[in-house]
Amino acid sequence: MTGSVETTCCVAGGGPAGLMLGFLLARAGVDVVVLEKHGDFLRDFRGDTIHPSTMQVMHELGLLDEFLKLAHQKVPQIIAQFGVTALRLADFRHLPVAAPFIAMMPQWDFLGFLAGHAQAIPSFQLRMQTEATGLMRDGGRIVGVRAAGSEGEIEVRARLTIAADGRDSTLRDAAGLVADDLGAPIDVLWLRLSRQAGDTDRT
Ligand SMILES: Cc1cc2nc3c(=O)[nH]c(=O)nc-3n(C[C@H](O)[C@H](O)[C@H](O)COP(=O)(O)OP(=O)(O)OC[C@H]3O[C@@H](n4cnc5c(N)ncnc54)[C@H](O)[C@@H]3O)c2cc1C
Repeated sequence: MTGSVETTCCVAGGGPAGLMLGFLLARAGVDVVVLEKHGDFLRDFRGDTIHPSTMQVMHELGLLDEFLKLAHQKVPQIIAQFGVTALRLADFRHLPVAAPFIAMMPQWDFLGFLAGHAQAIPSFQLRMQTEATGLMRDGGRIVGVRAAGSEGEIEVRARLTIAADGRDSTLRDAAGLVADDLGAPIDVLWLRLSRQAGDTDRT
């Protein structure tokens, strides 16, 4: 073991859930350490849509104007073309929110933006390339996380430990918690198409 850190809240996982929670807690003055096992946020196909409800939260946090300066494409409505018939599937324009559209933006830009703002708060610490490997216990209580970082093993002692390490959560397993599998009624085929300069929103 090469190090130990003491904090109020340890969040394992720097995805949307972990980073947003870490940001909100730090903003409220709570000491937070977020552990992210990867060295960057560049996971492909992890979502390209930022929804109006998410942007409403960003608006309430005073971040929306700056957020929308990041490269994105606005999708105010979704229209599907079936042969000659254009069918409007969704129209966000009437929503009573600050940004009534979907913003097409890679998840890594969203996470980078959030991490940048969180890291400006002194009570927030993000440790990249640090993988939570297990829980620390004291009697029946969980008192932190064991992790493996680029500099070796560390212990992060915390009053509150949050497992935000995704659907195959290591910490959930370590805690003996069992997720309810609700099944998925649909499969999604996800692919990237090129967009030419002359393409319209309909092509
Ligand atoms: C193909 C695909 C397309 C999607 N498209 C969209 C979309 O367009 N719009 C949208 O809103 N949502 C989309 N989603 C859903 C969205 O990606 C998830 O809802 C969201 O990423 C869940 O966030 P999370 O923070 O809970 O988990 P995750 O995003 O899984 O984040 C978990 C984080 O924890 C890290 N981690 C894992 N294990 C450890 C560990 N032991 N220690 C430390 N860190 C660890 C991971 O590296 C990861 O960064 C899509 C999902 C998929 C799979």
